[in-house]
Amino acid sequence: MLSQLQSFQARVRAVLRLPRENPELIQAKLAAFTRQIPIMYTLVMVNTVALAVTHYGSAPWLLTVVIPSVLNSVCLFRMILWWRSRGKILSAEHAIARLHGTIVTAGILGAGVSAWSLSLFRYGDAYVQSYVAFFMATTTIGIGFCLMHLRSAALLIMALVVIPFTIFFVSTGSMVFVATAINFVTVVVACGYVLLINYRNFENSINSTKALLIKQEELKALNDTNFRNSNIDSLTGLPNRRHFFAELDRRMAQAAADGRSLTIGILDLDGFKPINDVHGHRTGDRLLIDASLRLRAALDPSIYLARLGGDEFVIIDENETCRARIIEAGTAIADLLQAPFEIDELTIRIGSSIGFATFPSVAITAEDLFECADYALYFVKQHDRGRAVIFSAEHQASIREASLIDQALLNADLETELWIAYQPIIDTDSGRTVCFEALARWRSPTLGDVSPMRFITAAERSGSICELTPILLRKALEGAASWPADVRISFNLSALDVASPLSALKIIGIVQQSGIDAHRIDFEVTETAVMRNRSQASEALKTLKALGARISLDDFGTGYSSLSCIRELPLDKIKIDRSFVQNVETDAASQMILRTLAGLCINLKLDCVVEGVETTQQMRLLRDEGCRFMQGYLFARPMAASKVQAYLAASDNAAPAAMARA
Ligand code: C2E
Ligand code: CA
Ligand code: CA
Repeated sequence: MLSQLQSFQARVRAVLRLPRENPELIQAKLAAFTRQIPIMYTLVMVNTVALAVTHYGSAPWLLTVVIPSVLNSVCLFRMILWWRSRGKILSAEHAIARLHGTIVTAGILGAGVSAWSLSLFRYGDAYVQSYVAFFMATTTIGIGFCLMHLRSAALLIMALVVIPFTIFFVSTGSMVFVATAINFVTVVVACGYVLLINYRNFENSINSTKALLIKQEELKALNDTNFRNSNIDSLTGLPNRRHFFAELDRRMAQAAADGRSLTIGILDLDGFKPINDVHGHRTGDRLLIDASLRLRAALDPSIYLARLGGDEFVIIDENETCRARIIEAGTAIADLLQAPFEIDELTIRIGSSIGFATFPSVAITAEDLFECADYALYFVKQHDRGRAVIFSAEHQASIREASLIDQALLNADLETELWIAYQPIIDTDSGRTVCFEALARWRSPTLGDVSPMRFITAAERSGSICELTPILLRKALEGAASWPADVRISFNLSALDVASPLSALKIIGIVQQSGIDAHRIDFEVTETAVMRNRSQASEALKTLKALGARISLDDFGTGYSSLSCIRELPLDKIKIDRSFVQNVETDAASQMILRTLAGLCINLKLDCVVEGVETTQQMRLLRDEGCRFMQGYLFARPMAASKVQAYLAASDNAAPAAMARA
């Protein structure tokens, strides 16, 4: 019994208390009230005046003037208070205080109205007495409905009127008043019930709106995280490739609408890969972070900077239109990145190259603009590493030319149009030709003679080099078949030729068919070709070496190979690039490099060939630095197969004589 009473008490308390933990519900109650409370107070005031007037003269002045005035003043005061705060968002504390005030006022009003109307009862005749009952019932129900959203106040006021009302009217003993009391109680109970149901619906709808809002916010946070993850580069915190292309599209559309131009610049770090290889990825990552911080700090905030991936960054500049200023800005960036980086007690130096392209002068779509900048970057990396270049009409022309070459290559009859020129490699100790390098030549019926620099590059880019190499190798070996057995042949391989064991097997097949002893063959590969896929290339080269052939590293010194990677490859020979020979007579640095490279070959027990020797003075200097094998125009230009026999016969006498003169 006691526990039932306690649980009933708890339920009553729960119904009457304000939901402090639910500020949204409190605010919703307030919002509903601001509209309903003035109606309620108006109702109370009008009804009060009406009741007072019906008793004026018959009841004492205190009951017909003073008390109604006090009641109406309280109503008016509360009404003004609510009216003034309409549309305002109150703090949670203020809102709760305001609702508490309303509950207290409801209590005072309920008790006051009950006491006042019942005390008027005895001053009227039966009609007026019925009117008192009518006044109390209608006013209470009216107030109850107006207070619908404040359950505790509504129930309190109903209880404070209905209980004294029932006791009072039942005690009169009049059947009419007893019946009125029964009617009133029934109606109030029914209304109270409906009111509770309504209130629960109101509470539920507020709570589900709140839950929906929370879900929406969670969803938004999730979307924000997704957006960040898919648009920000996690290493540097810069926008990533995806963000860049979206941004480029947007900015180009804006620039087109405003009739403005816009420049993009793709920036590539020179020498980043070997740093990554030698010092590890952690150092590489730190370097990328430091470089991105340096760039972001130095660039004007209006310039957009993103990381495309790897060691490539990109900028969008909407301010600069003058070519000279763009190059100036690019050079400033290159200088900025040239300053040493201090990472984990290491001092690291890198360079950078930049390719620019301007909208709308060279391209009008984002893809084309990017390709132009990429081409400018490719161009600067090939010709002018460490500088900035803007995509120009000449670049456009060379792209057109490249596409002409691509087309012509596609339609070429390679068997008849390709041929081989041979250039001798001389042992300067004896003056004898020890080897010929096979150099590809193409006479196209539409384009004429095309330099191997162009068509080999085009074939490498399109992948058709895989068709060219077998034809060239077969022709090269055919030409060498009639040479003396101690003269070797050197053949150039591309990256794709050493990219898989399968391509190496193809080469082996051709060598075996040629009937030439594989021990007489050198295969030349460049650092860049090998570096593209070091482990695969190393495997392919080992397969060729197992056959008996030797491997030369071509164009040595122009790439970025570190000593460690040279040691990993199965090399026999190094060919020092001709760029080091060009200035050897005048440039002390070139001499120094040549001396170091020659010394390196001796240490690594590798043969060394110097390419591009054009003058006797160069040869003399090179010999002084310890170089023995040389190739270049001084000895002979590349010649057709038919000229080789005559050359060999003549040089048997002439070359030693030339050596003697040197
Ligand atoms: P490379 O392998 O460095 O070939 C040497 C290039 O230097 C040849 O150019 C040769 O004619 C040139 N040269 C030789 N001596 C001198 C000299 O004293 N002064 C100057 N200025 N140049 C000299 P070429 O024949 O135009 O070949 C260019 C490049 O094309 C070759 O450079 C090689 O990378 C590539 N290439 C040529 N034939 C083939 C081939 O059959 N297969 C592949 N994959 N690439 C080839
Ligand atoms: Ca070569
Ligand atoms: Ca070379």
